[in-house]
Amino acid sequence: MKVAVLAETAPGETRVAAIPETVKKLSALGASVFVEEGAGRQAGISDQDFSSAGATVAPRAEVLDGAELVLSVSGPDADALGGVAPGAVLVGILDPFRRREAVSAYGSAGLEALAMEWMPRITRAQSMDVLSSQSNLAGYKAVIDAAAAYGRAFPMMMTAAGTVSPARAFIMGVGVAGLQAIATARRLGAQVSATDVRSATREQIQSLGAKPIFVEGVAGIEGEGQGGYAGETSEEYRKAQAELVSTHLAKQDIVITTALIPGKPAPRLISDAQVATMRPGSVIVDLAADAGGNVEGCVAGENVERHGVTIIGATNLARSLPADSSALYARNLFNFLSAFWDKEAGRPVFPDEDEIVKGVRLTKGGTVVSERFA
Ligand code: NAD
Repeated sequence: MKVAVLAETAPGETRVAAIPETVKKLSALGASVFVEEGAGRQAGISDQDFSSAGATVAPRAEVLDGAELVLSVSGPDADALGGVAPGAVLVGILDPFRRREAVSAYGSAGLEALAMEWMPRITRAQSMDVLSSQSNLAGYKAVIDAAAAYGRAFPMMMTAAGTVSPARAFIMGVGVAGLQAIATARRLGAQVSATDVRSATREQIQSLGAKPIFVEGVAGIEGEGQGGYAGETSEEYRKAQAELVSTHLAKQDIVITTALIPGKPAPRLISDAQVATMRPGSVIVDLAADAGGNVEGCVAGENVERHGVTIIGATNLARSLPADSSALYARNLFNFLSAFWDKEAGRPVFPDEDEIVKGVRLTKGGTVVSERFA
């Protein structure tokens, strides 16, 4: 089977969908891997590294010619995939809801498009979960970016010239990114607290040595919520949460917000009036900026200042760690492909009834087949 690895063309994309390690592993399964020239440059992987791992490095047209499986990060448009074999499989973070036309075009072009971000949150798929691998890095980088923008130190320092008090960091939304943000802020020496609507996160927060801040007496989301995700909370809960957050926020120096609800705009967690209660020089990183933001006044992709507080509208932070994000993403793809690899056919075979396949498959046989997308 001919596998094509593309150089990404989406603005701001730094990652690559394969690394030398996964090229070797795909080759060991019997695939012929073709990598577009320069594909790994921003991730610190040279063409030479790819060819030493057994890939053929070539210009795009040669890479695509007859390819049966195309590996991408941000999905290319269907018309940029001329030359691929009929029925070729396209794998990537295809952003289906925001790229509806591109998805229809994949269908019309006869491609089998698989959206990796729609991987079900089930145990069997953990090693294939691109949202987790990328969110984990984003949670880390959010704290690093906050520390860089903060005009004070994170850890307590007792020096001959006096004591520097520790930064107080508050993490709102304790999914994959939030957990890593807690761990990173703790490692840097901040005093960390965190909140979520899912009661199951209370123990996780404590186990990382942070203080849980929870609405008491009003039901949030018991346990893990559907598919592990949060849903929308009641009006009563939102009111109680806003009050609790108000008192707590005024004492914080660093706030990282990560709250998302699948298929809905990000919940608003911090109002402009609440920002105004924070000490000037404080920093908020809003990891939900792309989904509308958790913080009033946040602008996706920009740093804005409100009441002396810097609000960083973080977008796709995993891209700012291209070597690690590519490596984890590439391994997610390999784990996915190898789980479905049929040795006799020499290619992955995706059964229609498989839970993972049903989750990720957008198009097949000329049409859009995803229930979620329809
Ligand atoms: P996410 O990115 O969808 O949301 C981030 C967090 O924001 C979640 O913890 C959510 O509960 C929280 N949130 C939503 N609304 C909120 C509000 N109003 N106030 C405060 N917090 C709010 O979540 P995620 O990182 O994708 O993780 C979601 C779940 O999936 C977690 O339970 C995680 O452990 C689980 N998970 C399972 C697997 C697997 O089994 N394969 C893999 C990854 C994650």
